[in-house]
Amino acid sequence: MCITDDQIESAQTLAEIAELVAKCQRCPLFETKTKDVLGVGSDTAEVLFIGEAPGKNEDLEGEPFVGAAGKFLNELLATIGLERKDIYIANVLKHRPPSNRDPLPSEAEACWPFLKRQIELINPKLVVFLGRHAMNRFFPDFKISEAHGNAFRKEMWGRKQVFLALYHPAAALYNGGMRETLTKDFAKIPKILKKISEKSEGELNN
Ligand code: URA
Repeated sequence: MCITDDQIESAQTLAEIAELVAKCQRCPLFETKTKDVLGVGSDTAEVLFIGEAPGKNEDLEGEPFVGAAGKFLNELLATIGLERKDIYIANVLKHRPPSNRDPLPSEAEACWPFLKRQIELINPKLVVFLGRHAMNRFFPDFKISEAHGNAFRKEMWGRKQVFLALYHPAAALYNGGMRETLTKDFAKIPKILKKISEKSEGELNN
């Protein structure tokens, strides 16, 4: 069934988006999926994490970040006193690409209105990109090696949004240096949230 942009834009809750994702044939990934992976966490989260796409475990369980990278993400959340129920985790793609290949631009494009509507409905203070695929979907010219760990504001869809790019937990899992950097960058999240609450225009990173 071809779900239209207008239908997605009209969804008033995450549950309504989930119903549309379940029927979605906007790209061919519905043919090979096991479960839909819309997202998990609080519908009113202050922090929305965005990964790339469901992998094998996520496709089987219908939840993002449940494999080794997910376990590491849970550990990182614990270092700043958060659990999965306190935040929201989504992906650029809601269905698994076969053999965990990178998302195709056409797939990311087809799935984009779902992610846009998720952001609008959750209305987070901070959007955190987990890895370059999520970041480049929003900011195609950014390099993760330069952008990671620095929060910035950007006007998007008529609202001022704060973004933070981090290395992907799966990339950092077995790379000591990157793991250390990701842990340090993660520790900035509470400070950034405080700064967002204090001032709508002030410096976010010092
Ligand atoms: N990697 C991602 O980017 N997303 C998941 O849900 C799992 C692993």
